[in-house]
Amino acid sequence: MIKAHNLVKAYGERTVLKILSLTVNKGETLVIVGPNGSGKSTLLKIIAGVIEKTSGECRAEGKIYYLPQKNIPFRKSVRDNLLFSADNTNEKEKRCDDILEKLGLACLADKNAAKLSGGECQRLCLGRVLINKGDFLLLDEPSSAADIEGTQLIEKAIREYKDKTGCGIIMTTHSPRQAKELADRIIMLRNGEIVEEGSTAELLTNPKTEWGKKFIDSWKID
Ligand code: ADP
Repeated sequence: MIKAHNLVKAYGERTVLKILSLTVNKGETLVIVGPNGSGKSTLLKIIAGVIEKTSGECRAEGKIYYLPQKNIPFRKSVRDNLLFSADNTNEKEKRCDDILEKLGLACLADKNAAKLSGGECQRLCLGRVLINKGDFLLLDEPSSAADIEGTQLIEKAIREYKDKTGCGIIMTTHSPRQAKELADRIIMLRNGEIVEEGSTAELLTNPKTEWGKKFIDSWKID
């Protein structure tokens, strides 16, 4: 379980995150939406332990894997990036081949990862996360650099991973379609605070606040 209570992050005088209460269970996908600067990445970074909270509580149980927004590959081949990231089990070669196939990277397996395109690199970095079995995945805009085909591969891989492992997922996206397809539950952040929270259908069709309505309208969901 991941649990935050009165969680605050401030830079100097400026509070950028203030989460009164948030619980995410294994087996569910929570999608965080909101405009630029609303605190989405900050929340994921605190849960991942990448940055310190200023005050409050944030508890994360189990094995957690984090995909940051900025993807930095190791200076190795695509295959070695995956093998290097994998838990040391005798299945790791097989899992590596499986990920290469699933994410459309098989034909790039021997290429130096530093020479990948942005979209290819994003798929590789997601692969480094998906090669292990986690209790929770924290994914910060996992398909922001991907084209349509890449996005489909990424979404399918995330869905299959969740079905197979029963993990919980917290992810951010600017894609209404992606939120609709992957989320069980959505929270909407504004100025670091949760202004809307509900099931995917509820939140996308019937936001409670005027601001939430405007934000969803601006998304122009099909
Ligand atoms: P989002 O992911 O929703 O676009 P972020 O969580 O990245 O937003 O950022 C939330 C706010 O915190 C932004 O206004 C950003 O400028 C600010 N912020 C993030 N990191 C720092 C930092 N290291 N120092 C000062 N302000 C920061």
